[in-house]
Amino acid sequence: MQKISTLLYRHLIEPFIDFVYPPVCLACASVMSGKRFVCRECESNIRILRFDSGVHSELRTHCFTLNPLLTDVYAGFLFEQGDALQHLIHALKYSNLDSVGIYLGMELGHRLRHHYGVNQTWSLVPVPLHTVKKRERGYNQAERIAIGIAKSTGAIVYPGVVKRLRNTISQTTLSLDQRRRNVAGAFLFQQPKQHILPKIAIVDDVITTGSTIAECASSIPPAVYTELYLFSVAYAV
Ligand SMILES: [Zn+2]
Repeated sequence: MQKISTLLYRHLIEPFIDFVYPPVCLACASVMSGKRFVCRECESNIRILRFDSGVHSELRTHCFTLNPLLTDVYAGFLFEQGDALQHLIHALKYSNLDSVGIYLGMELGHRLRHHYGVNQTWSLVPVPLHTVKKRERGYNQAERIAIGIAKSTGAIVYPGVVKRLRNTISQTTLSLDQRRRNVAGAFLFQQPKQHILPKIAIVDDVITTGSTIAECASSIPPAVYTELYLFSVAYAV
C-alpha cells in the first residue's frame, strides 16, 4: 500500500506545482503537458544515427584509428549546434539536471539492447571526470547516462574502475592532434574488487573527435576484456 505522503504528493501537491510552474521544453521553452524534458516536436527533430549508415562508418573508422582493439563504436543521436539534443546535453552538464542523463541513457540503451544485445552480462564504464570537476558539478554526467543504459538493458555499471589522473583543459578549441596529446595518459584502470564482466563498453555524453573516450578505453588492459565498445549519446557532426 502506498504511503499517505506519496499519494498526497502525487494527487495534490504535484498537480498544484505543475499548475503554477508548468513544465517547459528545454529546447524551445514551450509549455508542455506531462513529464517530459523536450516537447514532442523537438523530440521528433532529434536525428537518430542509423546503424551502418555512412556517418556511422565514418565514426567507426575514425575511432578504430585511435584504438585498433575496439570491437565497435556507436553514438545514438547526431548532435548539431542549436538543436534539441544540444539543449538537453547542455542542461545535463551545466544546469544540474542529472535526470536528463538517465533519460538519454535509457533512450540509447533501447537501441543498444536491440542492436548489440546489451544485457546483464555487459559492463558499463563511464568516462570519469577529475575529482575537482566532479565536485564542482556534483555528479558525473557519463555515469548518469550509464545508469540510464543499465535501466533499459540490465548491464552493470562500474563507476570507479577508471580514474582520471589529470584535470585536462577543455577540448573545444583544440586541434585533433592537440586533443590527443591533451588526454594522453590521463586515465588509469583500477581493478575492481568484484570481477568485471568481460564485455566492456565505455560510456560518454558526446563524441567529437573521439580522443577522450578512445584514450579512456586504452587504459583498460586487454587481459580484462573479450570485447571493447565505445557508446555515446551523441556524435557531434
Ligand atoms: Zn520544444
